[in-house]
Amino acid sequence: MVIDCKHVWNHISGYLDDTLSAEVKELVQEHLEHCEICSAILDSTRNILILTADERTFELPLGFSERLHARLSEEIEGIRPAPSKSD
Ligand SMILES: [Zn+2]
Repeated sequence: MVIDCKHVWNHISGYLDDTLSAEVKELVQEHLEHCEICSAILDSTRNILILTADERTFELPLGFSERLHARLSEEIEGIRPAPSKSD
């Protein structure tokens, strides 16, 4: 079973909280090893968690994850090779 970036994003807070099942955790870990985008997201998410660790809360501005996901989708579209034009 292969998971894509969007699956990883859905699991990232669970991954950091260590609440994922062993199977999912392994898939996420494998993905993170070869995906720079998701590794970067993991790092930023972890930094936010560290910053808010004292309060033990993890509050994000309303719409943050939607905006993050939209932004990431754009990034991924940009990375994908453009459809080849026949000249
Ligand atoms: Zn990824």
